[in-house]
Amino acid sequence: MTVATAAVRASFRVATGDADLEVDELRGSAGPTVVLLGGVHGDEPEGVLAARRVAGLLGGVALAGAVRVLAVAHPPAHAAAARCSPADGGDLARAFPGDRSGPPTARVAAAISEAVLGDADLLIDLHSAGRVGAMPLFCGFLAGGDPVVAARSQAAARAFAAPLTWAHDAIGPGRSLTAAAQRGIPAIYVEAGGGGEVRGVELDAMVRGTLAVLAAWGLLDAETAAALAAIATPSAPLAGATDARLVVRGGSGDLDRSRVAAAAGTLVTRVRVGERVASGATLADLVDDRGRWLEAVTTAHDGIVMFLRREARVAAGDAVALVAPVPEAW
Ligand SMILES: [Zn+2]
Repeated sequence: MTVATAAVRASFRVATGDADLEVDELRGSAGPTVVLLGGVHGDEPEGVLAARRVAGLLGGVALAGAVRVLAVAHPPAHAAAARCSPADGGDLARAFPGDRSGPPTARVAAAISEAVLGDADLLIDLHSAGRVGAMPLFCGFLAGGDPVVAARSQAAARAFAAPLTWAHDAIGPGRSLTAAAQRGIPAIYVEAGGGGEVRGVELDAMVRGTLAVLAAWGLLDAETAAALAAIATPSAPLAGATDARLVVRGGSGDLDRSRVAAAAGTLVTRVRVGERVASGATLADLVDDRGRWLEAVTTAHDGIVMFLRREARVAAGDAVALVAPVPEAW
């Protein structure tokens, strides 16, 4: 059995050609390496704060393995508080595994793939619905592909214990999870409410879930993880996190495949995130500047609302809502 030793902090920088990445690594005795990413999108402060809080908690704690924390994965987007980089318009979550000689965002993705993800044993990527969106707090993983990697990813999602989990049969290209899958590294991602608001209960759930995964992976003993969670997460667990948990099976979770607005206008939402909807249900009405009805955005299948635009003014083609398959008990 591995004896955990007090984690030593070793920070390092990774040059990308433009912005440097600041990596905070906590290293104890021999054991697995877990990579924790925040800020892949610059308008999602929840993951940045959660990653920093986990990094802050682990210094000096008995750790069997290493936790490599990149709290701000896309510095130019973070500095602009925007989803994409103002330097090249790049969305880091569409740029993996990256290209060392590509445009700036592709170089950031390549640097993360090689110097941060590297030969890690697990990736945890913390997101939220961003400035203009809303999502329920959930944990997602790739259930398709290599069955051994998928089983490890599912185990991490179970340990994270979000009230809602999304088991994807496929994930679109360019994601950090895509890069992890190519390297045979199990991975989970987490989404939260977004909208420019950081909810303490969700931030706490991200920290608590990450600590629980570190315990499940053997880096922390269960008592230490529970003690750190008790210190660092003052809010009560989210409803569902301790009892009836749900899983959505299938679908890619790709916001690029959301229902979109057919024309510019103002959205009047008719559902909430996390709500169950039946086939044909109206998710939102689109009206023009004079309040005249333009179209109903509807769902073509039964399911649960996983994303809803909260910014009312839309341009033609803007993502309005994403409905995932009906969840089951998990
Ligand atoms: Zn994101």
